[in-house]
Amino acid sequence: MDFKVDFLIIGSGIAGLTYALKVSPYGSVAIVTKKDRIESSTNYAQGGIAAVTSANDSFELHVRDTLTAGDGLCHRDIVELVVHDAPERISELIELGVPFSLREEEDRVSFDLGREGGHSRRRIVHARDLTGQEVERVLAEKVEALPGIKIYEHFIAIDLITRKKLRGSEGMLRGEKDICYGAYVLDTRNHQVHTFTSQATLLATGGTGKVYLYTSNPDISTGDGIAIAYRSGAEIANMEFIQFHPTCLYHPEAKNFLISEAMRGEGGILRLKDGSPFMEKYHPLKDLAPRDVVARAIDAELKRSGDDYILLDITHRDPDFIKNRFPNIYQKCLSFDIDIARMPIPVVPAAHYLCGGILTNKDGESTIERLFACGEVACTGLHGANRLASNSLLEALVFAHRAAQKSIKITKDKNILPASLPSWDTGNAVDSDESVVVSHNWDEIRRLMWNYVGIVRSNKRLARARRRIKLLKNEINSYYWDFIITSDLIELRNIATVADLIIECAIKRKESRGLHFNLNYPDKGGIKCERNTLVRRSRR
Ligand SMILES: Cc1cc2nc3c(=O)[nH]c(=O)nc-3n(C[C@H](O)[C@H](O)[C@H](O)COP(=O)(O)OP(=O)(O)OC[C@H]3O[C@@H](n4cnc5c(N)ncnc54)[C@H](O)[C@@H]3O)c2cc1C
Repeated sequence: MDFKVDFLIIGSGIAGLTYALKVSPYGSVAIVTKKDRIESSTNYAQGGIAAVTSANDSFELHVRDTLTAGDGLCHRDIVELVVHDAPERISELIELGVPFSLREEEDRVSFDLGREGGHSRRRIVHARDLTGQEVERVLAEKVEALPGIKIYEHFIAIDLITRKKLRGSEGMLRGEKDICYGAYVLDTRNHQVHTFTSQATLLATGGTGKVYLYTSNPDISTGDGIAIAYRSGAEIANMEFIQFHPTCLYHPEAKNFLISEAMRGEGGILRLKDGSPFMEKYHPLKDLAPRDVVARAIDAELKRSGDDYILLDITHRDPDFIKNRFPNIYQKCLSFDIDIARMPIPVVPAAHYLCGGILTNKDGESTIERLFACGEVACTGLHGANRLASNSLLEALVFAHRAAQKSIKITKDKNILPASLPSWDTGNAVDSDESVVVSHNWDEIRRLMWNYVGIVRSNKRLARARRRIKLLKNEINSYYWDFIITSDLIELRNIATVADLIIECAIKRKESRGLHFNLNYPDKGGIKCERNTLVRRSRR
């Protein structure tokens, strides 16, 4: 089937839904999302959103903390823009109905601000430890109430439709920019591929945690938007900067459950299995050191001791405080027989956040005209080499707002769409009778990335990973064209592409900086460091 809309949004997390609400008064909107509408990283965010809202904080301090975490690679203009925009975006969420936690002191009501690693002040606005769930719920409710927005659940975007794709590279004039006209999208319930034509297209597909064996991310985080944009020739940047969250619950049945950094902000202490604390050996801020330092410290301690996990201990705080401040974590741990008010929590690091992604400008525009990218899928210049905790929901809000303003402007100016677009061509593809190939390759990529391209890297490990991933990509590609596509196959092809991009960027960066640590280059590269590590597909 053919769908024609003014605004096509791929993804229904905080970035996609915020953009939808803002463009909706100016045209028809379609949101395609590959699972149920609320299934997103946003829905699992616990800690909150960083914003300057108190009298003892300042924009300068938030900017400084962000730049310090970013380790020399943040774009200062973008950091300033985001930090200054934050209070207004938070006010908008409150107006929409997000119930942020408040505190009352001397007849004055203010935000109950949380503190997280790398922040020099308490500045995290949160809704207890369910911030993301509340934000996602409120945004989804508002979107559902608008008749101009149509949501297509269980629709997975396959690839973009671009001018270059239609004409071929040879058909492009010298210096002519590529334009996005929409996307091919698979309805996973009836296996139909639909053509969505749009004046402006937003990729808001979130992160890439599933590229790694251990991750805090939900199953949807397979880097689809990055792989899709890369295949169309958009520029991709800084893929080597993967943030590993230091504390995911270690339990055989606890899939992807994160123990928020806010717990260390409230006094939680990291200990070895024998109960001894160890962070003072690694950083003056001890348990509140930046995430990369904490993750590497845990990695080093686990490698040294051979243990499977370390402990996060908050038992010295009042049990009522713990239950009230961390109701979600408390209940979840209790369901695994861990009473966090009485016993320390076993934790391990896991892939958590991608700082790189589709290169965008200050209006969320990619290097392809009319293709926007917002949220975790984008590389805006805010995070540099490392993300400051709770700056990502904020980044999604700020750039969804800016991208919406720009999209409204350009779509008002002129209609660029061709009269018709070709339908998806399945060629001679047949139904696959070898699903085992998909599950085997999926598992191999995620192990390979964990073992060779994880928290600590080396030239040898990266070279090995590159050789393996090229072979896997070739195998997956031939399989991809021979068989009728399924969502599993689409995601497998995407995680292979994203793994390849991470390895390529990691090989290009010949230094250790922020989240990228290479044993062969343990120091920063000084003036020779690259500001952005760029990759772009050279031919189609
Ligand atoms: C456990 C956890 C805790 C976190 N805590 C915090 C926190 O406290 N503060 C903070 O700032 N950040 C936090 N983060 C990070 C933050 O939640 C994410 O960066 C942010 O939510 C990303 O929002 P998004 O809209 O870009 O993507 P998501 O919220 O992940 O949404 C992506 C959407 O795209 C859809 N999608 C993906 N691929 C396709 C496709 N091919 N076709 C159609 N749809 C597709 C998905 O189904 C989903 O709807 C946390 C992340 C996790 C995982």
